[in-house]
Amino acid sequence: MKTLLGLKTKELEQIALSLGLDAYRGRQLAQWMYRKRVTSFEAMTDLGKDTRERLLQTYAINPLKEKRVHQHQDGTAKYLFELEDGECIETVKIPHGDWETICVSTQLGCPIGCTFCASGLDYGRNLTAAEIIGQVLLSRGDTSTNVVFMGIGEPFLNRKELFRSLKILNGEVGIGARHLTVSTIGIVEGIENLAHLGMEVNLGISLHAPQDELRRRLIKTHLSRLRDILKAADLYFQKTGRRISFEYVMLSGVNDLLKHATHLGRLLKSFDFKCHVNLIPYNETDSGYSSSSPARIRAFQQCLEELGINVTVRQERGKGIQAACGQLRRQHLEGKIPS
Ligand code: SAH
Repeated sequence: MKTLLGLKTKELEQIALSLGLDAYRGRQLAQWMYRKRVTSFEAMTDLGKDTRERLLQTYAINPLKEKRVHQHQDGTAKYLFELEDGECIETVKIPHGDWETICVSTQLGCPIGCTFCASGLDYGRNLTAAEIIGQVLLSRGDTSTNVVFMGIGEPFLNRKELFRSLKILNGEVGIGARHLTVSTIGIVEGIENLAHLGMEVNLGISLHAPQDELRRRLIKTHLSRLRDILKAADLYFQKTGRRISFEYVMLSGVNDLLKHATHLGRLLKSFDFKCHVNLIPYNETDSGYSSSSPARIRAFQQCLEELGINVTVRQERGKGIQAACGQLRRQHLEGKIPS
């Protein structure tokens, strides 16, 4: 069965023509799938029974099936979706006021070996654009939506499907580029490619350490030199004007000392880009690391602020629903969640 999700209006028009239908039927399909978010051809009431049956014979809409939703009392929801090959991926939705942020996965597992992360080094395959967009369409509520590519996987190791997903979420689903964020471990070529894509999406870079040596201890694969990553960030800023976000997970006694903050502040100040550091309290897994104390995080933040860097501390949400990257999927793989 071929999947229609992940195709642009122009491509859907071609499919309509190939079935002997008028091109405008393709535009109707796009409206139903991306704007009205219907998941079956039967619901496309202006298509006619004949047309719907013809589509049904060859095509499917969304390749995802909702397997489980964990709902936290603070409103955070974590979805486990089943793919057509029986594999599972996770998506998190975090409501805040009139907005919600949906955090999507881009790969099945992740090939990057972050030693503190529950999804590290259990890699299956890249997700398709349909599987990425499907996560947004199935979890989206009726509020305005931000989408962050910050779930499981490294988006820039799946560039083709990532870029297609960004274009469709923007052009077809109607989410503004400024409400889309791609987060990377720092794949230099990927940052450069995104800079040339011509979309002003937000770029997040998971830095976690101000020096290559410490970074190498925390992240085991796909490492580029910090200087090269920051040069690419600079290019991104020059091309798009978007402020760069740096994510920094706070690991007690590992990367959270004042000397680290000083180093980080000076390093970032040596570039021309506008930036912002997001300190992430560590969501503890069985990795052996523990989260820095609130006082330590505050001191780190102050030190950066004194060096003239914008800093925020990420609010912890979804504790107790395995909201840390990869936790829910891992439990599923280990058979701790009944199917
Ligand atoms: N590969 C991309 C996107 C996925 S990870 C990247 O590295 O940016 C999304 C963010 O969550 C990263 O900054 C990652 O380091 C962080 N993260 C992973 N596990 C975490 C945990 N247990 N607690 C807090 N942050 C975590």
